[in-house]
Amino acid sequence: MKSLVLETKEVLSLRDFPEISRVEESLGPRDVRIKLHTVGICGSDVHYYTHGRIGPFVVKDPMILGHEASGTVIEVGTQVTQLKIGDRVCMEPGIPDPNSRAARLGMYNIDPAVRFWATPPVHGILRPTCVHPADYTYRLPDNVSFAEAAMVEPLAVGVHAATKARVKPGDVAVVLGAGPIGLVTALSALAAGCARVYVSDLAPGKLEIAAALHPGIVPVDARAHSLTGVVKAETDGWGADIVFEATGSPQAARTVFEPLAPGGCVVMIGGQPDPIQYDAGAAMIREARVENIFRYAHVFPRCVGMISSGAIDVKPLITRSFDFDESVRAFEIAASAPPQDVKMQIVLPQ
Ligand SMILES: [Zn+2]
Repeated sequence: MKSLVLETKEVLSLRDFPEISRVEESLGPRDVRIKLHTVGICGSDVHYYTHGRIGPFVVKDPMILGHEASGTVIEVGTQVTQLKIGDRVCMEPGIPDPNSRAARLGMYNIDPAVRFWATPPVHGILRPTCVHPADYTYRLPDNVSFAEAAMVEPLAVGVHAATKARVKPGDVAVVLGAGPIGLVTALSALAAGCARVYVSDLAPGKLEIAAALHPGIVPVDARAHSLTGVVKAETDGWGADIVFEATGSPQAARTVFEPLAPGGCVVMIGGQPDPIQYDAGAAMIREARVENIFRYAHVFPRCVGMISSGAIDVKPLITRSFDFDESVRAFEIAASAPPQDVKMQIVLPQ
């Protein structure tokens, strides 16, 4: 099965990968077999390519990349009732042990035993087909394209963050970082009821894209302006009800409470590989609530529903797509982080 394989750090190849074909032969009674259609390139895929590791997850053996995917059901297990052959679907890439303590408590995303696509030693789905549990596979309405459906996975992070923040109608929010996750978080916060969302970044190109997404988004160039100054000036000195940290930068995290209103909530989204400084005093005088998120849980059907209804439009975030044959070049381009791009996708032959 021709797959996009990360052989080792900085070495990608598009080649037959017989090991995965053997694994894929068996379809369990509650599984479906899916022909992949569109796969988004995630920052984590690129990071494995350029660094060979993310924190404790190290690429020791060749691994297939990709985890943001949509496709078509081509075979169903004997006990699958909710899906049929020909259904267009998107897939949740993390599979927990359904009997684990975390899963039984409803927190399946933080099950220590979760198996997540393209996180070593688990293979991703930049390959023609995959076998996946039907319970983590979601049917698409006709008006949701494969490209939009492959955006559900990153969008799920934003929707989970907005859910954890407990957004109330009319809230004012700040999103630190205008990368793909910052932008889906801003859209999720607005869909959840925020009146406006200040999005700050150091890259003017990214802020232009942010500003064009929604009239409720206010871009703030963090090099030219004080984010806290702007937010305070426009909220009668009160501050933002919610601050989403979506940069993963220790410097941004250090000042995360500054634009926050008394009684507000900070949601930490960006991954921090090392311990960071955290202003406990600034949090204390605000009685700030701090939430941490790890991926997402229970939000895929909500994301599909919001894309279908038009409550969230992810199309402007998809800035480039490549044929599967061009996958290696697509990753080289993604690794160079072009400032005008948000999400690049790869389309498999059908
Ligand atoms: Zn991703």
